[in-house]
Amino acid sequence: MARAWLSLGANIGDPRGQLVEAVSRLDAHADITVVQQSSVLTTKPWGKTDQPDFANMALAIETSLAPIDLLDAVLGIERAMGRVRKEVWGPRLIDIDIIAYEGVRMKSERLTLPHPYAHERDFVLVPLGEIVEDVTALVAPTD
Ligand code: AMP
Repeated sequence: MARAWLSLGANIGDPRGQLVEAVSRLDAHADITVVQQSSVLTTKPWGKTDQPDFANMALAIETSLAPIDLLDAVLGIERAMGRVRKEVWGPRLIDIDIIAYEGVRMKSERLTLPHPYAHERDFVLVPLGEIVEDVTALVAPTD
């Protein structure tokens, strides 16, 4: 089992309801157990600013999945929840990012760990800070 930390965000439909649904879908996965949840934070959109506010939260999970398989699992949940992927940083029903995975630093075409932008995004750092002691170390980017 490895511990990993996820960031969840939503800003269309019922953002808080979608976060609750995503947490329960993650926990229902046979190889994922949600062990900690932050509170839900409302944040202004980042990048593309003419869109509704986001609801954001962070989770700690235990998983037997390898990082790339965890990525496939979270993308599967995004798809199952009907995420419409139209524009980068645009509105979304649910976005699930892997922020860090215990002991893993990697850069591949599909997956970078820790998440390459986590360290500069308050909507990731603030909720994560509620459930992790040393957030700065956890999200320190790989060169
Ligand atoms: P986005 O939905 O805009 O967050 O982008 C998702 C894509 O980013 C995925 O299809 C992944 O291939 C890629 N990606 C790279 N690193 C990560 C990560 N740490 N967590 C989630 N997605 C990642």
